[in-house]
Amino acid sequence: MKLQQSPSESGLKGAIPAGAKSWVPVQAGSDFPIQNLPFGLACIDHVEEAVVVAIGDQVLDLTALAAEGLLPEEDFPILHCFIDVDKNDLRVLRMLVYDLLREDNSTLRDNMALRKAAFHPISEVEMMVPVEIPSFVDFYAGIYHAGNVGKMFRPDMDPLLPNYRHLPVGYNGRASTVIPSGAPISRPKGQYRPKGVENPVFGPTQELDFELELGFFISDGNEMGEAISVARAEEHILGLVLVNDWSARDIQRWEYQPLGPFLGKSFATSISPWIVTMEALEPFRIEGPKQQPEPLEHLLAAGPAHYDINLEVALRTPSMRQPQVIARSNAKHLYWSIAQMVAHQTSNGTAIEPGDLVATGTISGPDPGSFGSLLELSWNGSKPLRMQETGEERTYLQDGDTLTMRGWCEGHGIRIGFGSLETMIGAVS
Ligand code: CA
Repeated sequence: MKLQQSPSESGLKGAIPAGAKSWVPVQAGSDFPIQNLPFGLACIDHVEEAVVVAIGDQVLDLTALAAEGLLPEEDFPILHCFIDVDKNDLRVLRMLVYDLLREDNSTLRDNMALRKAAFHPISEVEMMVPVEIPSFVDFYAGIYHAGNVGKMFRPDMDPLLPNYRHLPVGYNGRASTVIPSGAPISRPKGQYRPKGVENPVFGPTQELDFELELGFFISDGNEMGEAISVARAEEHILGLVLVNDWSARDIQRWEYQPLGPFLGKSFATSISPWIVTMEALEPFRIEGPKQQPEPLEHLLAAGPAHYDINLEVALRTPSMRQPQVIARSNAKHLYWSIAQMVAHQTSNGTAIEPGDLVATGTISGPDPGSFGSLLELSWNGSKPLRMQETGEERTYLQDGDTLTMRGWCEGHGIRIGFGSLETMIGAVS
């Protein structure tokens, strides 16, 4: 098959100009202008799973475009199976889609039959976890979060443990329970010790919490025994999603010593549906915080590798009509960059694989309104949050509550958004 058109040279590098416009209508303030074009996996008409791209309030089914010869099917096995995704393939595919959506390209614009088959309102499709995830790792790179936890639980010591500024602390999590936005969770059962009681009990957690995080998907892995350097790390990253690392604080508190988090974390991890590519985020690359003391050489920053991504959490109880924003933060508050996380994880020669999900850790900011968990927002349950609409109070989440996370970059005349990550707490079964 011959390509209908070839992407421009600048396009091959993955940069979509800030001034570019699409013939697809995009509302002001949309998360998905033509400069974004994030990838996802959608269930369309309840039967078919298709690789899709978001633009405006629509998803574009790429398999439908391939079937009509507008995308070279044989070059992109990912059109059928979104695993083993090669980063370069994804970059080229995204630019081919960009060309088809540009306002001056009539190929798809004037093919009404194909448009009808290929576009679907986002609100009418079910978004899935986009990639088969072999492994999930969660870091602890939010320095304000780590500091708050230290202040609460080790008030007589330095809030940060001695290793914190020398390596990004992390642990191996549970990939099998990563679920998409929209999938409800139940309060997990587990063993915990109620305050003032000597012996533990087993039952639904009384302290269900969220953690506001970002995550990234690995594209190409490494051979076992080969470390990935900080300078090359981003070549192994497909793009970012929002992550809610659900936490049962009472279960966690009872079980975590001496080996770290286990059942208090592994019951569910929710992710937003759209993989926002590194190319789309590139205009929002910024310097991270000054790292003092300077990290050892294998973790030394190779240039600016942080991103200016606004983050927001909203809560709606069953009695509320409107959600209330309870936290506003930003990815710039991470101490370690995602490149340093990859370099650290592979520094012992461990093999990472395509589709691995790596999360940053809770991203709190310096102010109480920017804390990324209820543990911090309610200061370990001592300062309940008040819901303005109903006067209700929350320290931790209750059945029927709905939690929504959002993320977006804004500036340079564009907005690159992540969509929303929404989860309702179902009844305990
Ligand atoms: Ca976490």
